[in-house]
Amino acid sequence: MSVKKIFLETKEKLLAHFSASEADFLASILLEKVTQLNKTQILLNTAFTFTQEQQELLENDLQRIIAQEPWQYVVGEVDFLGSKLKVNPTVLIPRPETEEWVQNLIQKHKKYDFKQILDIGTGSGCIAIALAKAFPQAKVTAIDVSDTAISLATQNSLKNKANIHFQTLNVLSWQTMQEWDLIVSNPPYICENEQTQMQKNILAYEPHQALFVPNEKPLLFYEKIAQIAQNNLVKGGFLYVEINEAFGIEVKNLFEGYDLQKVQILKDFADKNRVVVAQK
Ligand code: GLN
Repeated sequence: MSVKKIFLETKEKLLAHFSASEADFLASILLEKVTQLNKTQILLNTAFTFTQEQQELLENDLQRIIAQEPWQYVVGEVDFLGSKLKVNPTVLIPRPETEEWVQNLIQKHKKYDFKQILDIGTGSGCIAIALAKAFPQAKVTAIDVSDTAISLATQNSLKNKANIHFQTLNVLSWQTMQEWDLIVSNPPYICENEQTQMQKNILAYEPHQALFVPNEKPLLFYEKIAQIAQNNLVKGGFLYVEINEAFGIEVKNLFEGYDLQKVQILKDFADKNRVVVAQK
């Protein structure tokens, strides 16, 4: 059977569960993964012989998609600011909101000679890898409580030739002596009671440890990050944290209480409070 025919059949099966544009997108990425052809080649019906194994892989991927698993985990790879990163359910899928602020940070500071950069809660390593590539003179350290995340982030950094020092540790009980001139973090920030408003597939597949904080302690990670910034950020150094859109003012006030200057709330492309930036 031709590759185009298989694409159309796959799309047809997906149409029972998804909108027309989603079915088209999902059928394309599944076929691209199995055949390594691009969409144009698929639609031009480039000669391709499916092995039994490839057909089984496609069927298996299709069932995972129909079961609502995020396509990023099924494909196993995403793009983040030009780096190809492996993802699996031990790490959060990098969000476009995160990509946006990291790109703005890089743009705004491209003339800075950062020497020591710290990424707290690195997950797939997306932010640390983007920063290591943008600031090749800097020594980048990335930490995470999950050793499976650290092992995936390490693979991602090697794949993208980004030189990063990784450490598995829990930031909440961490004491660092080192000085940093840029600290970044996208910590867990969704309150447990917000679960009811969340997409089911996020809840079913993404790591809860990377997403949730107890209802009664929404600022848990920001308090610890503020302490680290107070003690270990060099004078003039920068702090960027991603936030829950509902806690912009609270995080800003918290940072101001820790002697951080020029504290600003930045919005994302959806006009939601998404980042708090501060300077020492
Ligand atoms: N923005 C992510 C979401 O909406 C959450 C990221 C986080 O908790 N750090 O799922």
